[in-house]
Amino acid sequence: MATIYYDSDADFDLLKERTIAVIGYGSQGRAQALNLKDSGANVVLGLRPGSRSQPDAESEGLTVKSIDDAAAEADVVQILIPDEQHGAVYRNHIEPNLEAGNMVMVSHGFSIHFGQIVPGDGIDVAMIAPKGPGLLVREVFEEGGGVPCLIAIQQDVTGHARDLALAYAKGIGGTRAGVIETTFREETETDLFGEQAVLCGGTTALIKAAFDTLVEAGYQPEMAFFECLHELKLIVDLIYTGGLSKMRNDVSNTAEFGDLTRGPRVIDEGVRERMQTILKEVQNGEFAREWVLENQANQPVLQALRRRESELQIEKVGQDLRSMMSWLDE
Ligand code: NDP
Ligand code: MG
Repeated sequence: MATIYYDSDADFDLLKERTIAVIGYGSQGRAQALNLKDSGANVVLGLRPGSRSQPDAESEGLTVKSIDDAAAEADVVQILIPDEQHGAVYRNHIEPNLEAGNMVMVSHGFSIHFGQIVPGDGIDVAMIAPKGPGLLVREVFEEGGGVPCLIAIQQDVTGHARDLALAYAKGIGGTRAGVIETTFREETETDLFGEQAVLCGGTTALIKAAFDTLVEAGYQPEMAFFECLHELKLIVDLIYTGGLSKMRNDVSNTAEFGDLTRGPRVIDEGVRERMQTILKEVQNGEFAREWVLENQANQPVLQALRRRESELQIEKVGQDLRSMMSWLDE
């Protein structure tokens, strides 16, 4: 079983003696910076020149500096910009401003695990990764709770990297819920695999394949949309709150029987074998190399695939049908 840390395992005072630079004010940057500030930490926000987030951050009471100045002033630097930008921003604006004994932090292990950031010998390296989107990290904290986090220590030069990372987790509310010990390798590989096989890749491919099957068999696209995409939310909400069994309790016996007898024929042994291949490409760095090169080339494949997907019939039908749903604001 995993090691889990709670409030009583973390000493927030360790952080009070230090300055934390949060780099970036997007989904995680905003949530983590505001939670830390409300907890009484000394936070400075590092943003690129002309950042469109600066007015918001300042109006929410944060001190904004250049990334270089924030990193220079801080003892702990949490990098919360898109993962594919970590390498360049670290090399050009953070690394030159670090001192021995400082700590570099991330909320996802990609850039460290795949060598986009190569931290110097004198630097502590840790991850605190909230298992939820920034909006939730902020909202739950304001209500007095916290979102569960992961902790991983990559480099502990000072001997207090774990204590400091736990203090950080306490500052953003994570130890109120529980902070699970992992490694950079495990977090990075499971995160990539999960989003590829299930959360993003697997789910969208399953939806599209089922939609196409009905439309090609002559059914109306509107019907295919409701059955294969729209109603997914109801099912996922049930699974989210009570696992597979709650969903199966709530649907009809007919649906449950179809689920149990037909599901394994759709997601069969062949799918499991291909999942293993996808996992190997994550583990051996093939996916990471492809994504790093894709970014060096200015994302040509991503742009082409985005365009193609946006033109799919299921997206057009969805747009029309959602406009009939007054409770949705896109
Ligand atoms: P966002 O895409 O929301 O980050 C946007 C911020 O990054 C903005 O402040 C933007 O600047 C800044 N930024 C973008 N490019 C650059 C650049 N080249 N130089 C300097 N600043 C830049 O990121 P997320 O919050 O989604 O993700 C941050 C980290 O957290 C990632 O490592 C991610 O994997 C991890 N994570 C994210 C989760 C989430 O909920 N999204 C969940 C758990 C982990 P500007 O303000 O100028 O536009
Ligand atoms: Mg993820």
